[in-house]
Amino acid sequence: MAFSPDPTRSVDVLVAGAGITGIYQLHRAREAGFSVQVLEAGDGVGGTWYWNRYPGAQFDSESYTYAYLFSSELFDEWEWQEHFAHQPEIERYLNHVVDRFDLRRHIRLGAKMTSAAWDEPSGTWTVVVADGTEFRSRFLVAATGIFSVPYFPDVPGREDFRGEQYHTGRWPTTPVDFAGKRVAVIGTGSSGVQLIPVIAGEVASLTVYQRTPNWCTPLNNAPITSEEQRRLRADFEAMCDTLNTSPSGFLHVPHDRATFDDSYEERLAFFDKMWSSPGFTKLTSHYTDLLFDPAANAAWCEFIAGKIHGIVDDPETAEKLIPKGHRYGEHRPPFVTGYFEAYNNAHVSLVDVKETPMVRVTEKGIQTAEGTREFDIVVWATGWDFGTGALTRMGIRGRRGLALEDRWADGPRTFLGIQTAGFPNFFFPGGPHAAAGNNPRYNGDQVDFITATLSYARDHGYDRIEVDPAAEEEWTAMVDRGATRAPSFGESSYYFGANIPGKPRKYLLNSGGRPKLFKEIAKVIESDYKAFRLSRSASSESSPPRAAEAGAR
Ligand SMILES: Cc1cc2nc3c(=O)[nH]c(=O)nc-3n(C[C@H](O)[C@H](O)[C@H](O)COP(=O)(O)OP(=O)(O)OC[C@H]3O[C@@H](n4cnc5c(N)ncnc54)[C@H](O)[C@@H]3O)c2cc1C
Repeated sequence: MAFSPDPTRSVDVLVAGAGITGIYQLHRAREAGFSVQVLEAGDGVGGTWYWNRYPGAQFDSESYTYAYLFSSELFDEWEWQEHFAHQPEIERYLNHVVDRFDLRRHIRLGAKMTSAAWDEPSGTWTVVVADGTEFRSRFLVAATGIFSVPYFPDVPGREDFRGEQYHTGRWPTTPVDFAGKRVAVIGTGSSGVQLIPVIAGEVASLTVYQRTPNWCTPLNNAPITSEEQRRLRADFEAMCDTLNTSPSGFLHVPHDRATFDDSYEERLAFFDKMWSSPGFTKLTSHYTDLLFDPAANAAWCEFIAGKIHGIVDDPETAEKLIPKGHRYGEHRPPFVTGYFEAYNNAHVSLVDVKETPMVRVTEKGIQTAEGTREFDIVVWATGWDFGTGALTRMGIRGRRGLALEDRWADGPRTFLGIQTAGFPNFFFPGGPHAAAGNNPRYNGDQVDFITATLSYARDHGYDRIEVDPAAEEEWTAMVDRGATRAPSFGESSYYFGANIPGKPRKYLLNSGGRPKLFKEIAKVIESDYKAFRLSRSASSESSPPRAAEAGAR
């Protein structure tokens, strides 16, 4: 199917995004014999781990469970320093992978895709990047991430501020000097709570503007000892087996008891164990009814609230830091190191913007209902247009010019979270309707399946792949149904687009998780890809697109 002598402008597979998913797609597609070009908007590879270089940015997944598993040699040669690595190490790792597998020459950096149009007669995509350069491909894979479009709340005057301001998800590559500065951090989601304790010790003053407190619990990070390194290597195969079959892609062992199976004392001891356990264990190895029984959830929340009061000296501040409007797990739980402790510094203060609304950003600082505070630096830790943000901003036009953002105006419609009807040969691993949990595991499942599908089509003489609308309808209905059942809590989180004014309240993950994905993929393979319409372009039989046609400028 390779149809061009020009390896950069006309390829079998064009991939947008050089994050962990796009890099993997590049590797897999090349391995399968396709010509591939990756277009990456950023000036470096790594996606999330290129853009989010704010102090304290780090994994909430165990490093070795997040890393690629496709090569035991790669696993052997990379020694993660910490159980939960920080951004610099993760970025180094992803660069190492790119070089180790000779992928860099297929990646064009600083190449933001601004449009992609399906050409029906030739069965190809024409893609244009920000500088006007045009590319042509048979298949288009948008590995553009679910946390890649930063969101700024609609506070007037942001452009008036004369000091420095940053979004955590667009952090500069040169270090920001916080020493002795008056700093505002807006937002206390997963990024804000990582950043705050790290800079608290450097700044002259730190004011945290909080809209919604979250159920933060300790990350419990630690360096990986040499004995642990040895065991990780010795147990690699077993670890892969667990990760490749775990519903959420973690190593954590599920618990076998429900909250009220235990006495009050036993429960407290278990909660303490959870509090001291690493990262997402607090969701994945918790009591079996944590997310299903409101009383069970309330017992755990009460325990966390007690811990917050135990750590934070000022009871009023502690009370503000305790979520009131949502249960544990309803929003993505952040994991922290020294976050609550930071508020015991006299120069750190907390403003609850629900009580004291922000009025505007001024030249010198931030005005709230109670007056203005002046700042040297303002940090926006205000999250993302989650799930669909990148895909609906790339100018994707399918059959008869259909715009993806129009097709998804009422929320995404997908099959397996990888394809949508009306957009032949277009795939989006790691987009909306993927599973939830340890990201690279299920994004990797999707990439493996996409690669298998491309290979199947090629091997059977097809060059057009489009999901059957009925299969899409079934998968989308499954996602929507799942969103109304326990453990769903309703629509208060970014999982439903609730952080973005006007965004349709549709569940953006797949509550069936990896088990549902595995089951459906197996069904597709067993049925000889019946969920897809496979066909052959008339023009591809005679005249494949060529580099010259690609209109290189
Ligand atoms: C601070 C932070 C911490 C996180 N921690 C964890 C964790 O511990 N565990 C976990 O499982 N997940 C975590 N995540 C989620 C994380 O996003 C995923 O784990 C993973 O990085 C997704 O990889 P990806 O390649 O799919 O997307 P991304 O890493 O987001 O990469 C997408 C890439 O596409 C590029 N792109 C977007 N639009 C275009 C365009 N139009 N043209 C060209 N390029 C484009 C972007 O520049 C970006 O580089 C975290 C996210 C954040 C923000």
